[in-house]
Amino acid sequence: MASINIIKEKCVGCKICIGSCPFGAIEVLEKKANIGQKCTLCGSCSESCKFGAINFMMERVEREDFSEYKGIWVFAEQRYGKLKTVSIELTSKAKELAEVLQTKVTVVVFGSEVKHLSKELIAYGADDVIIMDAEWLNDFNDHVYGELMIDLIKEYKPEIVLIGATSNGRSIAPFISSTLRTGLTADCTELEIDKAERLLMQTRPAFGGNLMATIICPNSRPQMATVRPKVFKPSNPDYSKKGNCILLTVPSPIEGFVKKIRDIDNDTGLNLTDADIIVSVGRGIGNQKNIQLAQELADALGGALGASRPVVDSGWLPYSQQVGQTGKTVAPKIYIACGISGAIQHLAGLADIEIIVAINNDPDAPIFKMANYCVVGDIKEILPLLTEKIKNKKIKK
Ligand SMILES: Cc1cc2nc3c(=O)[nH]c(=O)nc-3n(C[C@H](O)[C@H](O)[C@H](O)COP(=O)(O)OP(=O)(O)OC[C@H]3O[C@@H](n4cnc5c(N)ncnc54)[C@H](O)[C@@H]3O)c2cc1C
Ligand code: SF4
Ligand code: SF4
Repeated sequence: MASINIIKEKCVGCKICIGSCPFGAIEVLEKKANIGQKCTLCGSCSESCKFGAINFMMERVEREDFSEYKGIWVFAEQRYGKLKTVSIELTSKAKELAEVLQTKVTVVVFGSEVKHLSKELIAYGADDVIIMDAEWLNDFNDHVYGELMIDLIKEYKPEIVLIGATSNGRSIAPFISSTLRTGLTADCTELEIDKAERLLMQTRPAFGGNLMATIICPNSRPQMATVRPKVFKPSNPDYSKKGNCILLTVPSPIEGFVKKIRDIDNDTGLNLTDADIIVSVGRGIGNQKNIQLAQELADALGGALGASRPVVDSGWLPYSQQVGQTGKTVAPKIYIACGISGAIQHLAGLADIEIIVAINNDPDAPIFKMANYCVVGDIKEILPLLTEKIKNKKIKK
């Protein structure tokens, strides 16, 4: 634990410390510095005072012996017996990290009729696949799946656990980490290994995406991270690779907090994360009715419809279609940004895109700096023209 206080007798009110606090937690009132509620005990200000008035203390935590924790685990998600792409991406990444640590990759799958998935997971890098197969595990339930994962982690002691930052992953990961009293870094965009310390270096955007922070978890195990779909690329599968499929007998059904009443298929068409072409609308679209213009272009191209946050915040499109730091990470071949300014938080959701087309009526819009094709004009006029051209081209073919 850390603590901070100002030694009032030493403080001369020079205000130098104010600039050293990234959280704006210090103010000087009546020539004395005060630390306010915003303080996160980060320690950045501790060296800034030439008068020795800042008393910052960090209690040293003795590191436990973690030598019995071994291996990298991936919690794999599946639906209707088909693996989610993020699970394959994470298995591939886990293999890469395991090579540095000289350890094994284990993938855990829960579900009903899911034994066949081990072959694919082994091809993408798993050494062992732990499967719990039972009818009552057919539907994801964060409490039930979480309890099972916690028991497995306690028994097998993996040093790292990776989980997809999907809606299911985002609910199970904190349940596991808080129960095991370990650290969890959400929405990582890079994972590396500090080999000497056997630490997972978990990088993710911080301060509204304005800087990248690398987070470590030195004092507890396992080290846990979630990663969004499409952040990592899957490796080339090797179906000749050998691995072990460990079928564990499932304990009797666990009673979850949440009960399924009925299934609702909310599939709104082509999945944003799988689409090769995305037409995305921003605030420049003006109103909900105009979104139809972008939908028509997406349909003509066989693509999906995405959105910037203001469009989602206005209720014009559902959150599942938001692209960006707090939405989805997408990696289509072509991304058509319509009336989107190009804020850093939106661009954070664009991974590995081959071609960006931007349509904006402001020639100085920041999105043009990263676009391959820049169209200056009113989207309400340009979108119907583009749609017509695409449709005509298809008819001529
Ligand atoms: C912590 C945090 C997380 C965030 N997460 C996300 C996120 O996940 N995704 C996201 O998108 N944003 C996110 N944001 C918001 C982000 O900062 C921007 O505010 C947002 O991306 C802006 O959306 P926009 O480009 O649609 O709107 P604006 O910035 O308002 O841009 C609208 C653009 O449309 C153009 N335009 C207007 N009319 C027309 C027209 N008729 N024809 C052509 N062009 C026109 C304008 O010139 C302008 O460039 C986040 C912000 C924060 C602080
Ligand atoms: S704490 Fe130190 S740096 Fe801050 S106002 Fe007081 S004397 Fe100046
Ligand atoms: S410890 Fe960090 S957050 Fe707290 S006052 Fe100092 S710089 Fe600001």
